[in-house]
Amino acid sequence: MEKKIFLKESEIPRQWYNIQADLPTPLPPPLNPATGEPITPDMLAPIFPMNLIEQEVSGERFIDIPEEVLDRLLIWRPTPLCRAYSLERFLGTPARIYFKNEGVSPPGSHKPNTAIPQAYYNKVFGIKRLTTETGAGQWGSALAFACHQFGLELKIYMVRVSYNQKPYRRVMMEVWGGRCIPSPSMDTNAGRRFLDENPEHPGSLGIAISEAIEDAVTSKNTKYSLGSVLNHVMLHQTIIGLEAQKQLASIGEYPDVVIGCVGGGSNFAGIAFPFIRDKINGKDIKIIASEPTSCPTLTKGPYVYDFGDTAETTPLLPMHSIGHGFVPAPIHAGGLRYHGMAPLVSRLLLDGLIEARAYSQLETFAAGITFARTEGFIPAPETDHAIACVIDEAKKAKEEGREKVILMNWSGHGVIDLASYDAYMAGRLENFELPDEDIARLIKDLEKFPKPV
Ligand SMILES: *Cc1c(COP(=O)(O)O)cnc(C)c1O
Repeated sequence: MEKKIFLKESEIPRQWYNIQADLPTPLPPPLNPATGEPITPDMLAPIFPMNLIEQEVSGERFIDIPEEVLDRLLIWRPTPLCRAYSLERFLGTPARIYFKNEGVSPPGSHKPNTAIPQAYYNKVFGIKRLTTETGAGQWGSALAFACHQFGLELKIYMVRVSYNQKPYRRVMMEVWGGRCIPSPSMDTNAGRRFLDENPEHPGSLGIAISEAIEDAVTSKNTKYSLGSVLNHVMLHQTIIGLEAQKQLASIGEYPDVVIGCVGGGSNFAGIAFPFIRDKINGKDIKIIASEPTSCPTLTKGPYVYDFGDTAETTPLLPMHSIGHGFVPAPIHAGGLRYHGMAPLVSRLLLDGLIEARAYSQLETFAAGITFARTEGFIPAPETDHAIACVIDEAKKAKEEGREKVILMNWSGHGVIDLASYDAYMAGRLENFELPDEDIARLIKDLEKFPKPV
């Protein structure tokens, strides 16, 4: 029995899958918050290059992956599909568990699957420099790696608390030639405003996004890049599920259940969207998005128009959201802190094509440690949410005595994020469920905007 299913380099998928072509209900457009009118593609041109904006709104089912992008993806792709025999034995389950190991990329997660094409499309559009924000640093390091591949400069605004707590991610960004500064910074109007209020400001993803966008729109030959949420990011990640389909087919398997963790939705979309296409075409398959109880966007957030950032600088996006004023509980250590969810993933939940579950952080870290002690690899704390859900489904298969096939996206490794495991093992973490009253308060502000339909 094979433990790892490989594809030859020549078998790498040469097209991405665009689920917009198959949606039962089309996506509502993003809105201009000032007028309530739909945003047209040209309005996004100060922020993104037109070739990526075209992908954002494309209705083509398959989009060719450029040769130069394939060349760079081949540095670590195709990624192995692994059978989790030891985990199965430990759980005593009749389920067959497969995980797609996205932790084998240079920065250690799925994020370069979109960082590479984004850097490429900016380069061919004549852009010389990108800006972005990063929280824990996974996105910043992936984009630093990708920008260097295509000779672009990169400036990363990193949330100040993480900048101070996680120096090794900053070192990775710098090794790949990126410039990383703590946010709020003195380099932008937005940053100076927050530092005026509080010179010790800890920063937030929302503020860092505002700084990166301001920098992009006020600098020459510069655009902004986002690592999740948007349609073109979901598109680039579908290479994960497309590879998994070929790998499973090569051993005569097909999943009954597909599972991914969700922050902004991109690694989940990557593994799930090609299988959702099968589901739309009649396959009986369960697809589950797993999130933290402390940031329960899909399980508790209503479907609304909300800003993508805290400082209210982005267009309004139609999504499940717990409100852009959301601040994660300080005790929360497992990532997946974004207040909203990719519009595509949000829409699929409403259409009943996917389901969502929330797990507490003690359950997720326990699941991560079980995985590390059976399969060996230490998962990223984010990935632990998918593993907790896999373990649930495998136990259910045992109760039902059913031989089901479970496929999981193993979104990344946790070797640069050991402080959270340390806190868990020292007993310093506790569970936190975001109270309904907090969500009601956070979304109250959004009542003034139209309802997405
Ligand atoms: C960023 C990240 C996530 C969450 O982001 P998505 O856009 O929801 O995929 C999950 N796992 C890892 C390892 C990450 O780095």
